[in-house]
Amino acid sequence: MSNWDVIVIGGGAAGLFCAIQAGKRGRKVLVLEHSETIGRKIGISGGGRCNFTNIYTTPENFTSANPHFCKSALARYTPADFISLVEKHGIAYHEKKLGQLFCDGSSQQIIDLLLRECAAAGVEIRCGCQVHEVKKDPNAGSFSVRTSQGTFGSSSLVIATGGLSIAPLGATDFGYRIARQFGLKIEEPRPGLVPLALTSQMLKQLAKLSGVSLEALVSCAGKDAPKFRENILITHRGLSGPAILQISSYWQRGTPISINLLPDEDVYELLKSNQGSGIELANLLARWLPKRFAQAWCELYAASKPLKQYGAAELRDLAQKLHSMQITPAGTEGFKKAEVTAGGVATTELSSRTMEAKGVPGLYFIGEVVDVTGQLGGYNFQWAWASGFAAGQFV
Ligand SMILES: Cc1cc2nc3c(=O)[nH]c(=O)nc-3n(C[C@H](O)[C@H](O)[C@H](O)COP(=O)(O)OP(=O)(O)OC[C@H]3O[C@@H](n4cnc5c(N)ncnc54)[C@H](O)[C@@H]3O)c2cc1C
Repeated sequence: MSNWDVIVIGGGAAGLFCAIQAGKRGRKVLVLEHSETIGRKIGISGGGRCNFTNIYTTPENFTSANPHFCKSALARYTPADFISLVEKHGIAYHEKKLGQLFCDGSSQQIIDLLLRECAAAGVEIRCGCQVHEVKKDPNAGSFSVRTSQGTFGSSSLVIATGGLSIAPLGATDFGYRIARQFGLKIEEPRPGLVPLALTSQMLKQLAKLSGVSLEALVSCAGKDAPKFRENILITHRGLSGPAILQISSYWQRGTPISINLLPDEDVYELLKSNQGSGIELANLLARWLPKRFAQAWCELYAASKPLKQYGAAELRDLAQKLHSMQITPAGTEGFKKAEVTAGGVATTELSSRTMEAKGVPGLYFIGEVVDVTGQLGGYNFQWAWASGFAAGQFV
């Protein structure tokens, strides 16, 4: 059995970053990755340009059963820290929108950065390595990891195997299995940043709108659920687009999402002030909304008539529906389409300073496998870097 100070299982963003930090501290580090290459999600992220951080990152950009857990790690490794690393490696980048930083070139540049840093820190990486079993010696307190490439021992074991999203990219439930093996609680994993599916009846009604995109303010029930003002895209399966992906991480099955179609207008006043003009409702709405959408919305909620034919109560009702269109999704499009996995290893089980399991000395969980989920826009990588950095100081 070969012995190491630290074994990291999972060669993604969080695992590699943790390995780099530990290696820099002089620790002998081994990364075990079951895929043939490391960082496959980084490779396809951000449409191939990797949205590697967000300059406006705050703890409010994350959802978790304990919203305070992420604060410590995020404060100790900030977007500015990662940006200086990107600059040190001469990688050109730009802000696309809302603080989201992307490579000018390709995501491969971030993978190469991590590989160069791993090499400089003396980290050994083994790809194509299947982990069969993890054991902890109750006396020595060390771990042994039995794999397709032999058995390895270490005093620290870091689980950085990510969540369940997109199995063809290497996602497995390994991290949750290890957590359960050591008696740690798990917040039910569920798809996040994922398109929402509609009932067949709703799909029939919206079928002709497939491909229509519009900006709206989207919200859902839940005391910590923020509102998102971005685009919604109607697809042949349901709803997608950034506003929907964002709200999906907060949405609870069986509850409606609320869409404010005209967030900048006082719709009642708008309808009332146009009553004298003889204009039809659908034509008026088409001044703000895509025409096809305005017509379909009227078919669903109000036969389009000249505005003067509506009474005051009807106008109030229309205004209310335009400010708060309620749709109850049938579900999500699942892990195969989800950009992240919400839920995961319960933060109550981990130290927010070190990411070490409170009841299992030497065992650490970092990145997406933990119940900390970022919004769309570079926050998930920032969590991977920050949680990897935090653990990397202690393993
Ligand atoms: C299509 C897509 C685009 C995305 N774009 C962005 C973006 O632009 N910006 C952003 O911030 N976030 C983005 N994300 C989310 C981001 O990629 C993840 O949150 C982030 O990669 C999580 O890092 P991680 O290291 O925790 O997990 P992962 O990156 O998933 O890495 C886990 C690693 O563990 C390996 N592994 C799994 N099981 C085992 C096992 N049993 N044995 C050994 N190894 C194992 C996997 O192969 C993988 O290499 C995107 C996600 C997807 C799916």
